[in-house]
Amino acid sequence: MKNKIRLSKSVVGMEEKECLAKVIDAGFLGMGTDVQAFENALKEYLGAKHAVCVNSGTAALHLALMAIGLQPGDEVLVQSLTFVASFQAIMAVGGTPVPCEILPDTCTIDLVDAGKKITAKTKAIMPVHYAGCPGALSEVYAFAGKHGLRVVEDAAHAFGSTYENKKIGSFGDVICFSFDGIKNITCGEGGVVVTADGAVAQFTEDARLLAVHKDTEKRYKGLRSWEFTVSHQGYRYHMSNLFAAIGLAQLKKFGGFKGKRVAQAIRYQSEFKGHPGIGLLDHDYSEVVPHIFPILVKNGKRDALREYLLSINVECGVHYYPNHLLEFFKTSRASLPVTDRVYGELLSIPLHPDLSDADQSTVISAVTNFIAGKDDK
Ligand SMILES: *Cc1c(COP(=O)(O)O)cnc(C)c1O
Repeated sequence: MKNKIRLSKSVVGMEEKECLAKVIDAGFLGMGTDVQAFENALKEYLGAKHAVCVNSGTAALHLALMAIGLQPGDEVLVQSLTFVASFQAIMAVGGTPVPCEILPDTCTIDLVDAGKKITAKTKAIMPVHYAGCPGALSEVYAFAGKHGLRVVEDAAHAFGSTYENKKIGSFGDVICFSFDGIKNITCGEGGVVVTADGAVAQFTEDARLLAVHKDTEKRYKGLRSWEFTVSHQGYRYHMSNLFAAIGLAQLKKFGGFKGKRVAQAIRYQSEFKGHPGIGLLDHDYSEVVPHIFPILVKNGKRDALREYLLSINVECGVHYYPNHLLEFFKTSRASLPVTDRVYGELLSIPLHPDLSDADQSTVISAVTNFIAGKDDK
C-alpha cells in the first residue's frame, strides 16, 4: 500500500530539537524567560499590545471568557459549526453557548441569525475564523457594539491571516490562538490570549497561574512568589519553557509554512473551480492563511467520497460535527438547517506544509475521478 497522505500534521525538525536541547541544558523547564521571549515575539509578529501564553487554545478561550467577566448563566453567541473546544470553553465558565447559523459561503457566523437569538442574558459573541477566514469581522464588531457585547475571537485556525490587510490579533477585543500539534504553528500544545485591554491581560496572566497575583512578573525575573494575594479562581494553564521554545522555532519558519499553505489552497481552488460536483468556500488567499481545506461535495456523495479516499490511503476529515447536535449542548434545542445542510457536504482534504506537489496531484485526481464515476476501486 502507498504511504498514507496525511490530512494535517506537525511540521517540526532540527530547529525545534536544538531549541529544546537549549532549554534542557539551561535546566528550567517551567514557565520563565523562554515563555516571555515567545510572548514578545508573538506581540511583534501580530502587532499586538498584550500576548499571554497558556497551555492550549481551549485554555485561552476559557480564561478569555473569565477575563471579560462572563458569569454563570450568561449567554455567548457562537456558530454551531466549530470545534467542540469553543463550546466547552463557554460551558467551563458556567455560560450557555447559543448555537448560531453560518453563512454558507464562508462558514463564519450569520449575524442575522445571531441577532434573533439575543436575550437579556447575552454577554458576548465568539466568531470562529473557520479554516483561517475571519468572515465579515467589522460587521461582527458593529453588531457587538450595537448590542453591548464583548467579542472573543476563536482564531485557532487563523494564525497569520489578515482582515482588510490588518493581522488578526492586531485589532479587536480579545483574540485566542491555538498552537496544538496541527495548527498553523505549533508548540506541541499551547495557546495565547491576545488583547489591547490591560485588565484582560492582567487577569489572564494571573488566572493561568492559580490566580497568584503578578506571579508572572516574578517568574520572568527568575523569582518565585512565597507570600501572595489570590482573589479569584485560577488554573494551572501556564505554558512551559519547553513548549515556548518550540513555538519560537516555529515562528521563525512560519513564512515558509504560510507560502506552502496558501499555494496549495490556490491550486485546489483553481483545479476545482466550476466543477459541477464540488463547491468551494469563498476564501480570499491574499488574506487567509488556510488551516484546513474543506470542499463541499454535492449530490449526496460526501460519505462515499470520504470512504473512497480513506480506502486509497488519502486521509480526510469533516470539520465539524455541529455542536447543536451534541447531547451536552442540546438544551438550546436549536434548529439550524443551513448548518445541517453544509455539514452534510463538508469534506476536508489534505493541506499542510509537508504535502508534496505529487501527493496533492494524487488527491486532486482521486477526488475528480471519483466524482466523475471513474474511480478504479
Ligand atoms: C484547535 C481549536 C481550538 C482549541 O485549541 P487547542 O489548542 O486544541 O485546545 C479551538 N477552536 C478551534 C476552532 C480549534 O480548531
